[in-house]
Amino acid sequence: MDLFRECVLCPRACAVDRASGSNKGFCKESAQLRVAYVGPHFGEEPPITGTRGSGTIFFTGCSLRCSFCQNRQISQNGLGVAVNMEDLLESVESMIVKKGVHNVNFVTPDHFFPHVFDLISKLRTRGHSLPMLLNLSGYQSVPSLKLAHAFTDIYLPDFKYSDKDLAATLSGCRDYPDVALSAIREMVDCKGFLNSLENDTSPATSGVLVRHLILPGYVKNSLDALTTLFLEFGSSLPLSIMSQYCPVIRHDDERLNRRLGKDEFDLVYMHALDLGFEHLFVQIPEEVPSADAGRSPFVPDFRLDRPFAVPSKD
Ligand code: SF4
Repeated sequence: MDLFRECVLCPRACAVDRASGSNKGFCKESAQLRVAYVGPHFGEEPPITGTRGSGTIFFTGCSLRCSFCQNRQISQNGLGVAVNMEDLLESVESMIVKKGVHNVNFVTPDHFFPHVFDLISKLRTRGHSLPMLLNLSGYQSVPSLKLAHAFTDIYLPDFKYSDKDLAATLSGCRDYPDVALSAIREMVDCKGFLNSLENDTSPATSGVLVRHLILPGYVKNSLDALTTLFLEFGSSLPLSIMSQYCPVIRHDDERLNRRLGKDEFDLVYMHALDLGFEHLFVQIPEEVPSADAGRSPFVPDFRLDRPFAVPSKD
């Protein structure tokens, strides 16, 4: 619980005492663990999803709280239930044993890192040796990552912004580009690049895969983000370019009120190819089902028992 006192688990460094009473920081969460969903998910990249799914745990609250967040129900609207460690351990263990998931995927967990480390320790003690994956916003502090390394096999960080003004406007953190680059450097130096890159028949067991979500109307941010990653890590960096953006609220910025255009995706994709990235995962916009035709498979509804419309294989 000490890590929750004068909390500096993330770069917001709120220094509030989350351990006592109901004090909350920017992430809107006290030290009471809250979870919105535990279950297999089939919407990650093939080496993460494999054939039996990635065993996701979605936490309530977020240290970044982007205005366009696709998981807004839980990241900003507080959906989720308080859980104790014993019940969560039982639930995750059941998922591992009954569903045969390839990894345990902690989604945006940094504001609950102490609980996450405790849970992983207990899973290891009980003999579960599958990879532990931290699915992160990229806005992480290096000291927190140094604590996380001992518990983590795979890092799945975003690199959302190269544009400081855009980071300030959409996520309230002008320092995102520098902070995220340092964080990803720390992850790569410790774990290397993802060790399986080809398909879903040989799921990854360690390393780093970086994600970038292209925002409609902000192609230059994406082009510069890819250039930044290339200059820092080279063309061998495993990179996932996502085009699944879907507006979930009405934005004052009209650019964010539509899906990504194919022409916008093509510009970013061609730039990735020009830079020579050797290990690319891409979502082709035509292959991303439209939310207008029904429920988008990439915008979960955490009020449902099965929040994701991505086909389950069970
Ligand atoms: S985890 Fe929450 S309370 Fe702690 S520094 Fe980050 S935003 Fe602030």
